[in-house]
Amino acid sequence: MAEIDAGRFIGYNELVLEVNHREGESKLPVETQGNTMWINVAQLLKAPVGVTRSYAVSEMVDIAGSSHLVEGEVQLIRTNRGFLARATLHTDIELTCSRCLTLFHHPLLINIEEEYFPTTNIITGEAVPIPDEPDCFTIDEHNILDLTEALRQYAIMAIPMKPLCREDCAGLCPGCGGNLNQASCHCSTKVTDRMVGAG
Ligand SMILES: [Zn+2]
Ligand SMILES: [Zn+2]
Repeated sequence: MAEIDAGRFIGYNELVLEVNHREGESKLPVETQGNTMWINVAQLLKAPVGVTRSYAVSEMVDIAGSSHLVEGEVQLIRTNRGFLARATLHTDIELTCSRCLTLFHHPLLINIEEEYFPTTNIITGEAVPIPDEPDCFTIDEHNILDLTEALRQYAIMAIPMKPLCREDCAGLCPGCGGNLNQASCHCSTKVTDRMVGAG
């Protein structure tokens, strides 16, 4: 869209970092210091419905109790009520296999689709009533759209309930507790022997 200066949006986070660097000591509030999960939508709030902007995300985020590098892209589409945020993000988490109890790395793909509502009128600065919807996501009074909470919620939903280190994980031996993926124990042989003997 030609009427919007795209460079100002795409370069927002870089711009903030540059300002911080130039001034040495940061005078900006903590929440705007280059966190790629926080998008300043002040200019985009003035854009007409349908205008879309994309932002790169690369941020350490706490998911399920530990910090993870989350990377990907978020697209903001101006709606008549606020923004539709569509994000495709990926990270890598450590899970415990529900069969063999070993820790393994699991790639997590997180697809977010949420509407965000402004709390302040960008032109008048007056408070805007937000929709009467439970847990709706809002843009704060500094025009920062924060993806962190949506990301956490979607990430938790994306984590498998019964994680498996691999589809055909052999699990633990009920006899000796050995990991059957690593070595077959003698329990199964004994069972077979006994079965053979009994038959
Ligand atoms: Zn396993
Ligand atoms: Zn065994």
